[in-house]
This record gives sequence, C-alpha cells and structure tokens, in this order.
Amino acid sequence: MNQNMQTRTYIIILLIGLLVTGCSQQLHQQQFYVFGTLVGISIWGVPEKQANEAINTIANDFQIMHYSFHAWKPGALSDLNQAISTGQVWTVTELALLPVLEQATHFYHQSNGLFNPAVGQLINLWGFHDDDLSNTRQSPSPEKIAKLIALAPSMDDIEIQGNQIYSRNRAVQLDFGAFAKGYAADLAIAKLHQLGIHNAIVNAGGNLKATGKKGDNPWLIGIRHPNGEYVLAAVAIRGEESMITSGNYERFREYNGKRYSHIIDPRTGMPVQGFTSVTIIDQNGALADAASTALTVAGLENWHRIAQQMGIKYVMLVDEEGTVYVNPAMAERVQFQPEKKPKIIITEPL
Ligand code: ADP
Ligand code: MG
Repeated sequence: MNQNMQTRTYIIILLIGLLVTGCSQQLHQQQFYVFGTLVGISIWGVPEKQANEAINTIANDFQIMHYSFHAWKPGALSDLNQAISTGQVWTVTELALLPVLEQATHFYHQSNGLFNPAVGQLINLWGFHDDDLSNTRQSPSPEKIAKLIALAPSMDDIEIQGNQIYSRNRAVQLDFGAFAKGYAADLAIAKLHQLGIHNAIVNAGGNLKATGKKGDNPWLIGIRHPNGEYVLAAVAIRGEESMITSGNYERFREYNGKRYSHIIDPRTGMPVQGFTSVTIIDQNGALADAASTALTVAGLENWHRIAQQMGIKYVMLVDEEGTVYVNPAMAERVQFQPEKKPKIIITEPL
C-alpha cells in the first residue's frame, strides 16, 4: 500500500468510526428513582451536555413534586390532608398544587367519581400507604369500610377560594397516586420543549409520554403483560402522546393468601377485580392516567361508557384470563408478539 492509499484507508476508517459513534451519541438515556418507581428519560439528537442538563432539571423537578404530592410522607399534600381532617382552612404555599386539584376534580366528574382522589382513607385502610407491601397485616374490617363509604368523601367537598382550601367533609384525604405520574410526564415534556428538546421519552414506571421521533423512526413503546414477565405488545407513538398502563402486577397486597389490587372502587370500598391491566393512549398524560384507573374500576360492563365520557380514543384492557380487549382504533396500532399472541376481542368503536 502506498502512502496515499494508506492515508485514504485511514480517513475512511476514521469516517466510519465517527459515523458509528455519532449515531450512538444521538441517544442519551438516564434513569433515576422517584415516585416509588424507576423513571427513565431518553433524549434524541441534541449534544450530550444539553441532554444531561435537561435530565438533571427534570430529575430535580420530580424530586420536588414527589414530596409536594406525596400521599403519606411529610410535604404540602400531607399538610393539606391534616388541615382537612381537623376542619381547618389551609393556605396554599405551593401553588403547583392548585392545577393538580383542578384537573383531579375535572377527571372525577368526567369519570362519574370512579376516579376519586378523595378516598385516601380507604386506600390507607387497605394498607397501600406504605412503600413495602410484603409485610403481613390484618385485612380491614367490613365495618370500617362501610363507615368510610357512608361518609362519602368526594372532590366536590373541596372549596378553593384564591389560595385558600377548605373541605366541607373531614373524611376527605387526597391521594393523587392514580394520576400523578401521567401529570408529571406532561410537565416534564413541556419543560423539555422549553429547553429546546423535541425528541424524547419520559417514562415513569411504564407510564410515559413521548414526543417527536428517534431519528427517522417513531418511538416504539412496549406494553408489559400484566404478569410482568414479558412484553405483550408494542405501539408506535404518533407525534406527542402519553401511553399509560394501570396494572396490579406491581402494587398489590395479599390477605389470607388472596391478592388485592391497589385500585379501590370508591362505591364499595373494595379493591377492584376484573381487569389486570388497562392501557390508554392520549395526548394528555394526566387524563390518560386518571382514565386508566377509572376504566379499571368501571370493569367490563362500564369501561366503554366511561372512556367515551372522558374522551378517550385508544384503549387496551386485559382481564384475569389474559383476554385482551381493544377498540378498533387501538387494534390498528398495537403489534402483538407473533409467538405470544393472546386471545383478542375487538370492541365497539369509541
Ligand atoms: P399505577 O400506580 O399502577 O400506575 P394507577 O394509576 O391506577 O396505577 O394508580 C393507583 C393508585 O391510585 C393507588 O395506589 C392509590 O394510591 C390510588 N387510587 C386507588 N384507587 C383509586 C380510585 N378509585 N380513584 C383515585 N385514586 C385511586
Ligand atoms: Mg392511573
């Protein structure tokens, strides 16, 4: 090889090398633990420094939200809950709570109260105000459940005037666990846009929002099987969307050898049975999250009506036998693993 050829070969190898590292450097991913779950952020196509700074900003925002909105650890929400239980008027210092309350009340109405973040006492009674759900405890007595149901805590009990909050009903205890992750993903994607990042995924334990693309391809997102063991299906994200799954494979308790879901039917005070996972796609992550919980409560008979009321367009539900229900618009979008295709029922359109 003469000198010239050697130089040319060297340049070609260098260029290929640059291309390969250039491609892998397009994707920046980081994970951190918050909201009791692993949060992953993927960012495509910006310099590493910009991506890392943005991820740190989001991680910091999420830490603050984690404490402000935590249902049972000290913070703004537990102060508010304390004031409610003693019949006091509470002055909001963390203004971020006001839009959360406003949206929660809206979804409460849209879902006929099946999404009811005012039932914190019932959720606590079933032992879900705890990080560790493996410890054994007595199941709640039917009398205690009946007493709380009779007190009927609801979002309509809450009055907001300026920055003053008051609840007419002292049985109200707010728990935003059913929509906080979807809401947080909305805020995170909005923040990324402000920081000049338009291709990203924010994934809070399977509750995610994605925007833009991964280069020339759409973001492809997997939906876990409710048994948690494998990816049941995949969906390509269109533009900017949230995909939220409410499932009881991660958070459940066992009483006398039987599993109880962390989603409670506010009408009966009992953990729900029926659907083991409900996945919703919507542009609004908070709505998708609230709806995933509401449709789980609604069950096979009523999910369709509640989904229509909430304006949901894409739903996939899995029952205890593993049968998958999808509305026609969702059926067009989900790709099942061919070797693990479940029994699929296409429902009425939404
Ligand atoms: P995941 O945490 O699996 O995403 P969800 O979004 O459905 O599931 O949230 C479940 C949490 O919501 C529970 O742990 C509890 O804190 C709260 N919750 C349970 N039942 C209800 C309900 N009917 N309405 C509102 N919040 C609920
Ligand atoms: Mg939810």
